[in-house]
Amino acid sequence: MLSVERVIVMPPLLGCAYYPEHWPQERWAVDAALMRQAGLRVVRLAEFAWDRMEPQPGVYDFGWLEQAITTLSAAGLQIVLCTPTATPPPWLTHAHPEICRVTLDGTRVSPGARRQACASVPAYQEAALRITEQIAWHFGEHPAVIGWQIDNEFGVGETTRCYCDYCRQGFQDWLAERYGSLDALNAAWGTQFWGMTYRDWRHIPIPGITNEPQSPSMRLDYRRFSSDNWVRFQRQQIALLRQYAPGRWITHNLMIRHWSLNYWRLAQELDFVSYDNYPHGLSDPCEVALNLDLMWSLKRRSFWVMEQQPGPVNWHPQRPPVPPGQVRVWTHQAIAHGAEAVVYFRFRAGRFGQEQYHTGLLKWDATPDQGYREAQAAAADLARLPDLARPASRVGIVFDYDDLWSIELEPVQRDFRYWDLVLALYRVFWEANVPVDFLPRGCDPSGYDTLIVPAAILIHPGEVDAWREWVARGGRLIVTFRSGVRELSNIATDSPLPGGGLSDLLGVRVQDFCAVPAPGFTEWPEHRPGTQVQSVKGDHTLTYHLWAEALSPITAEPLYRYGDGLLAGQVAITRQRLGAGEAIYVGCWPVNFGELFHRQGWIAQKSSRLEQAQLLGGDGTLWRVTLNHSLQPVEGLAGLEVRYERLS
Ligand SMILES: [Zn+2]
Repeated sequence: MLSVERVIVMPPLLGCAYYPEHWPQERWAVDAALMRQAGLRVVRLAEFAWDRMEPQPGVYDFGWLEQAITTLSAAGLQIVLCTPTATPPPWLTHAHPEICRVTLDGTRVSPGARRQACASVPAYQEAALRITEQIAWHFGEHPAVIGWQIDNEFGVGETTRCYCDYCRQGFQDWLAERYGSLDALNAAWGTQFWGMTYRDWRHIPIPGITNEPQSPSMRLDYRRFSSDNWVRFQRQQIALLRQYAPGRWITHNLMIRHWSLNYWRLAQELDFVSYDNYPHGLSDPCEVALNLDLMWSLKRRSFWVMEQQPGPVNWHPQRPPVPPGQVRVWTHQAIAHGAEAVVYFRFRAGRFGQEQYHTGLLKWDATPDQGYREAQAAAADLARLPDLARPASRVGIVFDYDDLWSIELEPVQRDFRYWDLVLALYRVFWEANVPVDFLPRGCDPSGYDTLIVPAAILIHPGEVDAWREWVARGGRLIVTFRSGVRELSNIATDSPLPGGGLSDLLGVRVQDFCAVPAPGFTEWPEHRPGTQVQSVKGDHTLTYHLWAEALSPITAEPLYRYGDGLLAGQVAITRQRLGAGEAIYVGCWPVNFGELFHRQGWIAQKSSRLEQAQLLGGDGTLWRVTLNHSLQPVEGLAGLEVRYERLS
């Protein structure tokens, strides 16, 4: 059953990123006309143009931008303006070399690229706020400007974390705020290990080059602090834009597979999130869909694709070609997952700078490239459809950055990656065309039928109480291995595993946990937990890898037992019935989660080999979008083709 709650209906828009500062002024009107001919309606400007806006300290020049906006809006284009703080101008880094980030090994990075600045340095913060205030004051109420993008891609190129002296002091202050007293910090971190009891906040180190790893508690908190630091930096700009640009929305463009920023927190103060969709940075259409669903979930509402890959990209180490039809399919896939706008990056391929091998909608010589024709085709498709919005999902998957970081710091099994686990679980639903939302830790699962909790390693006190009530009302909770293992400060719990009340809710205890060595690891060949689990009924075998836990059911029933190796005969997967629902614990990592879910009836067999999604029309209609991601015809749909069907 589809529900219409939580839906915001907006018309899907297409647009492009444009750099008037890269092209002679006489091109602007020509380009604007070409954009309109392609059916584009919005254009994003100025995210890297600080040097043009403020050529000398305190000397501002917005005339060129005013002229560009006038030309583009005269052609009927709406404008998204950016604050330009990702690229501090040369005069600023020259006057204040301390604004440049310091890497883990203590090296100060050189200017000349982008995102070289550290958010902790006062000279950068002050200059960034001055230019933000200036651009906001100039264009805040400009009738053509519909909204604002803060900065550009916080964290791109591994730039979230800096290790300068300002960050050290910022971290120490952040810790004082979080823990209140050194006694509390020492206890939370367990600093007695290797004799690290702190008696002065200024003695607390930050991550650096050491002969052995530093405290996992300190390093997890440094990840949190570094993320919070950019959330704070963004908040300062939001405050100025709210003041000078009333009635305009504010967003930031988030990235694929980006884990150094806590996007739940970064999204909180934005009106909606935007997302830079570069499928060639991801493994396949399923991982593209996961990222799109995560973007929708961050604000539980439609989002923008602020940069859409229009063809081959410079930063890819292989730079594979993009077959004809693919850009149009990517555009519709984004809309199928809840995008209300798709903005191609960029309008014309750059003739200079670091991204010359990045395709545009136009080639270097200003003739249309393949992406131009496909944007035009997508615009024509959308013109025939009503406004579309994504309905609510019935399946939720918990996704958490602190859990990701804790496991990233100590994977135990080198190949154990939290993201891979989330993707493996997501794939089960994507392949069956069951829509999925992502949820933060501490969420209320009301409204969902199924909640998947992958490796929730950190214990959030009280969280399980809401889950228990929801299960009793009929929810199906599926918790995996490595859940409820550590306190929030990243030290092991002293409760039986899984901790935090999970053991009681799931009716099971973890007796032992094992990393599963990779097949290529040949030492001590008999020291292996095993490779397979068998259903208790004896009719099904699953292969597992990476992780295995021996379970002792208390009140739960065993569903699978280990079939071989050191764990042979022990329980691997359990189910506890509770009220009208059930709570399942999966103690090992199946190579194919789908086999388990289908066999247990937790998901229906897939009905199509094509990706399908349902969308609600603003006019009350219901639509099914079908996407063929392959070059070959599948089930009557041509290769790289899209079909919209009205269901009601
Ligand atoms: Zn710093």
